[in-house]
Amino acid sequence: MDYLVNTPIEYLKGVGTERGSLLRSEAKIDKLWDLLNYFPFRYVNRSNYVNIRELPNYEGQSVQLKGTIMGVREMGTGRGKRLQASFRDQSGVIDLVWFKGAKWIKNKLTPGVLFRVYGKPTRFGSKWNIAHPEITPFEQVAQEKGLQAVYNSTEKLTKKGLHSKGIERLTYQLASTTKGQINEILPKEILEQYNLISREEAYYHIHVPRKAEDVQKAQFRIKFEELFFLQLELLLRKNANTEKTKGFKFEQTGPYFDEFYQNHIPFELTNAQKRVVKEIRKDLRKGIHMNRLLQGDVGSGKTLVALLSMLFGIGNGFQSALMAPTEILAQQHYKTIAELLEPLAINVALLTGSTKKSERKVLFEALEKGEIHILIGTHALLEPTVNFHNLGLVVIDEQHRFGVAQRARLWKKNTKPPHILVMTATPIPRTLAMTFYGDLDVSVIDELPPGRKPITTMHFFEKSRLKVFELIKKEIALGRQIYIVYPLIQESETLDYNNLMEGYESISRSFPRPDYQISIVHGQMKPEDKAFEMDQFAKGNTNIMVATTVIEVGVNVPNASVMIIESTERFGLSQLHQLRGRVGRGAEKSYCILMTGEKLSQEGKKRVQTMVSTNDGFKIAEVDLEIRGPGDIMGTQQSGILNLNLANLATDGQVLSLARDAAKTILNEDPKIKLEKHRLLRQEVKRQLKSKPNWSKIS
Ligand code: ADP
Ligand code: MG
Repeated sequence: MDYLVNTPIEYLKGVGTERGSLLRSEAKIDKLWDLLNYFPFRYVNRSNYVNIRELPNYEGQSVQLKGTIMGVREMGTGRGKRLQASFRDQSGVIDLVWFKGAKWIKNKLTPGVLFRVYGKPTRFGSKWNIAHPEITPFEQVAQEKGLQAVYNSTEKLTKKGLHSKGIERLTYQLASTTKGQINEILPKEILEQYNLISREEAYYHIHVPRKAEDVQKAQFRIKFEELFFLQLELLLRKNANTEKTKGFKFEQTGPYFDEFYQNHIPFELTNAQKRVVKEIRKDLRKGIHMNRLLQGDVGSGKTLVALLSMLFGIGNGFQSALMAPTEILAQQHYKTIAELLEPLAINVALLTGSTKKSERKVLFEALEKGEIHILIGTHALLEPTVNFHNLGLVVIDEQHRFGVAQRARLWKKNTKPPHILVMTATPIPRTLAMTFYGDLDVSVIDELPPGRKPITTMHFFEKSRLKVFELIKKEIALGRQIYIVYPLIQESETLDYNNLMEGYESISRSFPRPDYQISIVHGQMKPEDKAFEMDQFAKGNTNIMVATTVIEVGVNVPNASVMIIESTERFGLSQLHQLRGRVGRGAEKSYCILMTGEKLSQEGKKRVQTMVSTNDGFKIAEVDLEIRGPGDIMGTQQSGILNLNLANLATDGQVLSLARDAAKTILNEDPKIKLEKHRLLRQEVKRQLKSKPNWSKIS
């Protein structure tokens, strides 16, 4: 092992100084071990031959043919000069063409000999040809392995003979000499339980593939190992946090919770809400700092769970805070919660950027005296001038809008850090939650309140706008309200603004006063004007709300039944899902209408299709992960900590679950991996942590 890890790549036969430094700069291959970890990105099945007649089915793909050369001709002059051979099998004939190296190739092409030809066919009118195919006498390949590894290469590497095939020669050579050198690092029980092949076998088969089954086993083993160590680190970290950080103990449910729960909850909690409240309650009475992520699809009723949690705190003599990402949302939470708590002797206050100086003074005093029980607000809550009497719990709504640093500031608001409940309405794929929040406890509300009618989502091209207007008119006639949302792209605020205003004018023409009342909300308005317009809409005084994405998160107007999204192609999936979640909040049938231009990219199409085909936020999150990858969703800085080489979070969810279970099993028996039999595990964890200096606390 040491030999592989420490020996520079130059020492491998066939590499040398020049190729060595290229491998280093182009592919980060420094030592022999790095080459072994340079995995093929796919495999070609070498036992599968295509008939020439079937080529039309394989356009754009590489194929393998078996046949004989019939004739060879040199054609054209100057730049058009080429060597052309006609090649036939039992089903047809095609041309093989070489523009370079004609002389050398020509000598190889003995007519009548059986050849294997490999390359990408292209169509010329009704004829097919393959330019620069790989061609090998069949005699030589008959006993070759069934699969061929394909490696990524670069232009510079290719120039030095290190195209996929060249790299394959190196890995083949190296992998064939590693017997007895790659030691096992996973415990025997884990290997047995999860049916894993040894590390040594895995590294061999991944580079020297014989059968598809061998490759699968090798990939599974290597992915498992990568994900296992990732999970082990996360769980170790989580254990360490829980042990270190003492938290306030909320021993009783308290009078406020009991009174509210028994007499003032406007509806029966869903089972999922009940379960989650129990999980939180259990956490809060432990005396250990709570760091919990609450996931639930839009409309699943997270606000109520937050409120009940805050009531625990108050009942135990602590203040609570609720932080929202926008002023509109903070105001709305304030309104909802103040109303719900009306019958109880609880003081709720609102603090945002637009709270006046004079009001602030009064508020801050009351807060420090402990007269305010719940403070709701925007990130204004984080300012150092905001001092609590005894802050015990902070709920952060729509977590993805807050940075890590901002959250850290909350910890300083009391002698011990207040408990933290982070709520996110953008469901995170399970695989991401397990990795990026692997050191948090996660609660999931996986059930919507009863009686919701599913939202029907439809896609319309611009030219069908009149049909959409018909639908709007019909819904308004039924007393419903409509959202029309325009995209907002930060870089070009003026352009977006113009876009929105144009839309607004055109809508005003089609829906004229006094029959129709229209509200408008956008980023360039003053907060109090925004609030006024929102309020008009919420009260039902206006029929249509034209807005930018400021209404994306949280806004709750149950009477709104149609969400029209303009230029849908400019929104991401999770944003679209958020927007759609603004309707379907009442008992009425609701619609989400996706407007797009005629031309859609592949990805744009996929997003639209996904939205039309499902309402399930978790499914949408999975597709989002597939399209964008974890780096894009979680931020590259966070995905940098992953160090995943072969495993893919978008597609290897199952392996991840198994790996996490395995890591848990180990830690249950040996919480700090101190046992002698886990010595190798401990070493590997240490080694990996060393190579990840940026692994800071994520949440
Ligand atoms: P989100 O999880 O998106 O924040 P909200 O907390 O805003 O969802 O809840 C959405 C709507 O569902 C609100 O109008 C709320 O009053 C209502 N609601 C929440 N829980 C229930 C329940 N158990 N039964 C019926 N309605 C509920
Ligand atoms: Mg919400």
